Amino acid sequence: MSRLLIVADMEGITGIDRYEQCVRDTDDYREGVQLLCAEINVIAEAARSRGAQSISVIDWHGGGGNIDPQLLDDDISVVPEDLSTGYDLAMLVGFHPMAGDDQGFISHTMRQGLAVAVGGQQIGELSLLAWWLGEHGIPIGLISGDRAATAEADRFFPETPCHTVKRAESWGRATCIPTEQSYEALRARVSRMMEQTGRWQTYRPVLPVPFQLKLRDPNPLPGLIPWLRDGENGWLEGEVEHARDLIDLIDVVSGLINLQQRNNFIAALKDEPEAAPAMERLRTRQIEEAIQTGHWNP
Ligand SMILES: [Zn+2]
Repeated sequence: MSRLLIVADMEGITGIDRYEQCVRDTDDYREGVQLLCAEINVIAEAARSRGAQSISVIDWHGGGGNIDPQLLDDDISVVPEDLSTGYDLAMLVGFHPMAGDDQGFISHTMRQGLAVAVGGQQIGELSLLAWWLGEHGIPIGLISGDRAATAEADRFFPETPCHTVKRAESWGRATCIPTEQSYEALRARVSRMMEQTGRWQTYRPVLPVPFQLKLRDPNPLPGLIPWLRDGENGWLEGEVEHARDLIDLIDVVSGLINLQQRNNFIAALKDEPEAAPAMERLRTRQIEEAIQTGHWNP
């Protein structure tokens, strides 16, 4: 009997083949949500059939709020980003590769225009999560996503099985394997991993964690954080006690990037008499720009 935690991102979910499906308020987003929930149900069903005692999900994409609980099986709980309650096994589902991976679908690390390194080596969200789980002694049994994401998982966490559901055609477009075929393979992998407890791997980080961050666009705000200092080649650097501290710090830096973008937007709006159409144009332009500049090389 085991308590399973699914950490679900969106970009690497079966059937999601365009960026817009992962962006709130687009026409395509609802479809993305349905695919996300369907895949969680597939995993839950397989885990349940192999004796999972509870199934919890962290909604990792864009800070959460994507999962529609009505589309989930009744016994699945959407839970906050708190690992202190204890889980026996985690699965990282629906992931994308790190910023700068030009073979990846929607490559980025936590947000667009940000790169993260630890000890001088660039890392992605898979590493941040594996280490955060590792700090709490929670092993990982499966990682899924596009081909570049699972290749990244193989590089960093070769002992953990992966499930590849698509390959990128460009930053914002992908070709998925047929949905039923993906679900079938996923069911089989989840069932196997639930039973093969000897293959569950815990990835404890070396603490403290020396990290570097790089922003694509000029932004004076993160430089004001007292525990970040200037490093080489435009990287900011520092050190945190725990892997989770790094995730929290990146969230703060992300917030500062958002603030800067909003300030730029408000400045541009000063000459714009009609705010509503301007907002709409900006949103469309942001999506186009995201697709065009996605394969940024830090
Ligand atoms: Zn995401």
